[in-house]
Amino acid sequence: MRDFTLKAYRSYIEAIQQKEIPFLRFDELMPLKEQPSKFCMARHDVDRKPQNALQMAMLEQQMGIRATYYFRAKPNTFKPDIIQKVAALGHEIGYHYESLSDSNGDLANALEDFEKNLAMFRGIVPIKTISMHGRPLKPYDNRDIWRIPENHDLLAYKFALLGEVYLDINYTDIAYINDTGRNWTSGESNRRDKVESNIVADFGSGEQLLAYLQQNPHPKMIFQIHPERWSDKFWANSMQHAQDILINAIKTIVR
Ligand SMILES: [Zn+2]
Repeated sequence: MRDFTLKAYRSYIEAIQQKEIPFLRFDELMPLKEQPSKFCMARHDVDRKPQNALQMAMLEQQMGIRATYYFRAKPNTFKPDIIQKVAALGHEIGYHYESLSDSNGDLANALEDFEKNLAMFRGIVPIKTISMHGRPLKPYDNRDIWRIPENHDLLAYKFALLGEVYLDINYTDIAYINDTGRNWTSGESNRRDKVESNIVADFGSGEQLLAYLQQNPHPKMIFQIHPERWSDKFWANSMQHAQDILINAIKTIVR
């Protein structure tokens, strides 16, 4: 099986569906007082190549699942027509913010930037949840804005949001399966995209991941997939592969 193709993605989703694990969006899970006994949330961070996100969104709609897409507010990802199409397919749209790194660590400017971009998104679609963008080459952790309790309160009261996906979900009992670094070993190439989970969800290959999903998957999962890495075009795929290797190499140097 060639991994990181839409065909491979389809087989992962099918395996989860065969286990009768229902798919939820983040805006469906976050208001619940208790986590359901089984669920899978497909979470997509759209860091670049929004066209790939649209293709994945269409595939998911065909398969009868609804996912959450976090778009960055940058000119090459904030494409209103694509975002509205993804929403129209039944998916949740969230804001993938990077306000603290864009403001070089200035908290007041970061909040202003956040508010402005949130309004820009809300001009085209409803937004109920947010996730930080990692910006591995910058020293700021974008979540730090909300680690100040008064600022965290603003999420609900000022910005009418259900929450931030890293800070407002208890991951202890959730398998966090994640394609960052174009592999399934979530710990290795991730500087910031980590959660506190007791469930081990590292796989040496796509085959191993598929076998896990087909056999005895943990009943609560987050499937964190970056659509930019997934394509059925051979060349687009190898170009992206080369870029991923380069980015991982730079991250190692930064560490
Ligand atoms: Zn990101």
